[in-house]
Amino acid sequence: LTRRITGEGSSAWDIHFRAQERLARGEDVVILSVGDPDFDTPAAIVDTACAELKAGATHYADHRGEQELQQVLAARHTAQTGVSTDPEQVVVVAGAQCGLYVAAQCLLDPGDEVIVPEPMYVTYEAFLQATGARVVNVPLLPELHFNIDPEAIAAKVTERTRAIFINSPHNPTGAAVNEATWQALAELCVEHDLWLITDEVYADLMFEGEHFHPGQLPGMSERTVTVSSLSKSHAMTGWRLGWVIGPREFAVHAGNLTLCMLYGSPAFVQRAAVTALTAELPELEEMRQAYRGRRDLMVARIKSIPGVNCHTPAGGMFMMLDVRELGVSADTFAERLLDEFGVSVLVGEAFGPSARGHVRASFCVSEADLDKACARIAACAEAFLSEADG
Ligand code: PMP
Ligand code: GLN
Repeated sequence: LTRRITGEGSSAWDIHFRAQERLARGEDVVILSVGDPDFDTPAAIVDTACAELKAGATHYADHRGEQELQQVLAARHTAQTGVSTDPEQVVVVAGAQCGLYVAAQCLLDPGDEVIVPEPMYVTYEAFLQATGARVVNVPLLPELHFNIDPEAIAAKVTERTRAIFINSPHNPTGAAVNEATWQALAELCVEHDLWLITDEVYADLMFEGEHFHPGQLPGMSERTVTVSSLSKSHAMTGWRLGWVIGPREFAVHAGNLTLCMLYGSPAFVQRAAVTALTAELPELEEMRQAYRGRRDLMVARIKSIPGVNCHTPAGGMFMMLDVRELGVSADTFAERLLDEFGVSVLVGEAFGPSARGHVRASFCVSEADLDKACARIAACAEAFLSEADG
């Protein structure tokens, strides 16, 4: 076996799988350990997929993406960035996860350095290691609510640096990069001739303001690769439909790679994606409002719990709970929270050392379940505090 890939982050899910097993046994467990929307895919999208299947869309599709979907995505990207985007710059892939892998393989060589703020989503480690590039992490600090400090990133740039990966809104912290920070990052990329890979899977789930697309900044369209998907915004995690958009020569490379990796995303899924991106779907805004309502509920409840604090997420479906005042490790807290109180969260350190003392909670359950989870988090915190007193 190759020694390049350790993918240690994958063990982060152990606690989640245990919680799922308990739920399957009929136990009363609230799962806040995964970011999988609890909503159904909007019916119009499902209808298109079913109709296309019945009509015989069961053959190989264009491996780079069907023309109509490429056109829809290019027009959308043009509207978002104000930079004219050709359909040939778009490559359709099996979810953003596949897009991240493709982007990394197309842009990084062994010996290159790639800068990634940490905590980072757990898969980043393995897909970057697979390129042979060296991952250079930059800490995101709880004191800054896990927001990016562009100067800390600038300090890590060397002559070997090839790319910076930025995820906003961020998994696991919910932090969103503001325009000034994007500008500083863009200047850095232009000055040092770096690629900027922007992981935008949560971009349509911003709670205040809109996501800022860095490709619109001067000198950036030719060095920005956008990775996104329908997974979160359209409650379509299981459909595996995502895309990468970048300069033409990047897209040629990415297309060649998808040829050998995928041989194209299923045609009926691609046609359903056109419906997802072009039809009038009131469900999308309803889902966003639901996440916002859940976020507000969670923040209010968590802030009222002695010994537990939280960082208010600007977008996405996750928030970080700070349990440092309880005087126990996040791991100890998460284990007891599941074992004794029936709530699953992920341990922050699984995403990187800067999240020490934190756990990640998702809000992909109903407000009633969130309410129940918060009461249990309060009871768990109380148990630790009273033991510390006694
Ligand atoms: N990036 C981040 C930050 C994510 O949280 C996820 C969701 N697991 C992905 C990429 C992958 O998304 P997809 O389901 O579209 O592959
Ligand atoms: N992105 C989601 C999360 O971080 C889902 C990942 C998964 O199911 N493996 O929870």
